Amino acid sequence: MREVAIEFLGAAGTVTGSRFLLSCEDTRVLIDCGMFQGLKELRLKNWNPLGIDPGAISAVAITHAHLDHCGYLPKLVKDGFKGKIFATHYTTKLAEVILHDSARIQTEDAAYAAKKGFSKHNPPKALYEEADVEVTAQRFVEAPFHERTQIARETFVTFHPSGHILGAAFLEVEFFGKRILFSGDMGRHGHPLLVEPDNIPAGQFDALVTESTYGDREHEPVTTQFEDAINRTIERGGSVLIPAFAVDRTEVILVRLRELYEQNKIARVPIYADSPMALKALDFYREAIDNNSPEIRTEVAAEWKGRDPFDAGSLHELHTVDESKTINNPQQPCIIISASGMGTGGRVVHHLRDMLPNPKHTVILVGYQAMGTRGRNLADGAEEVKMHGEMVPVKASIEQVQSFSVHADGNELIEWINTASEKPKRIFVVHGEAGVAETFADRVKQQLGIDALAPKLAQRIVL
Ligand SMILES: [Zn+2]
Repeated sequence: MREVAIEFLGAAGTVTGSRFLLSCEDTRVLIDCGMFQGLKELRLKNWNPLGIDPGAISAVAITHAHLDHCGYLPKLVKDGFKGKIFATHYTTKLAEVILHDSARIQTEDAAYAAKKGFSKHNPPKALYEEADVEVTAQRFVEAPFHERTQIARETFVTFHPSGHILGAAFLEVEFFGKRILFSGDMGRHGHPLLVEPDNIPAGQFDALVTESTYGDREHEPVTTQFEDAINRTIERGGSVLIPAFAVDRTEVILVRLRELYEQNKIARVPIYADSPMALKALDFYREAIDNNSPEIRTEVAAEWKGRDPFDAGSLHELHTVDESKTINNPQQPCIIISASGMGTGGRVVHHLRDMLPNPKHTVILVGYQAMGTRGRNLADGAEEVKMHGEMVPVKASIEQVQSFSVHADGNELIEWINTASEKPKRIFVVHGEAGVAETFADRVKQQLGIDALAPKLAQRIVL
């Protein structure tokens, strides 16, 4: 009997660094190739050896373009991976943009740290550079949704929409006769633009590998907290800063702001989208809507074809650094949406530094804030946060709005697992912070009666 094994090379005990290795005989396939983010001890893991010689990997398949699922690819290629990288059309497009941005930020941060002398690396260095991203992008192979695609010897992958971000898929993998399902990140029902997540394909799976980001809680119902926070801020003459993941969260926020404008629920102040990456992603969403992409809800494509669902008439797109600087420390009320979503890098860091010390302003956190990030510190009520080696006092209002989450919560994950026609033989729970994955695994065992485990980092399990 040929031995098929799965190894958890990341996203075990943490929400980042998704990397799962399937192996049988001399075939090795990597599902997702993410970067570790958040706490310094996690970020340092990106410098550790992968746990397998990249040159021995036959192929890689990627669920979606978020950095914690694709951000390690250029390092993999740099370290000797010679194969192809399979992903959906928009995942390849968005990943290229996101990886370039990641390389640029790392290179800039390393240069800045070298100048200021506050890095632990001497000299400070980037994990990879933009040239590595260019080589990586040449390895991408587009795979259509719902078609069984061979990616390596006795290895077939079918990509199914997961409703998380444009291009995002969960993967049905057939590997040397075993069937394994990888959730990637599961979206929610009712995304304003994207089609509903697919049900689990028929038949029994030998294993289901599921995320558990919000596995231990339920999302709050939609309230007026978002518009209330905006209105209070504008009334006192302040501005609103929304750190947002460049891909999808920016789109969802812009759609919501347009609706609030149209319903006269917030004042018509200028809205600035201040992230070059978010603006590139925005164009891919516009293109998908105009081209009736199967990922876009039919009613959205019908209503907005040739028009812009992201602009209520006051959207300003700030592409260059000089344009961005014109809104530094805003004197007139406005709404600024800027990346990164957890305040760890990008232009939002400069806006946080300007705006946090002023009690007139409000920072609205709309996404998941991983431990160790500035966003998490703000959410936890920090009175000061460190930026570029300096402590910045937090006087601005901090609001956390959960309803924009593009991750399924515990109930939604259970509901999705229940769409399986036959119970999977076992479930591996990954992509949750310490304790959360275990909690969700216990729930799966008790509620669904399926063998479930939250694997440890580097754990190898024979299927
Ligand atoms: Zn994601």
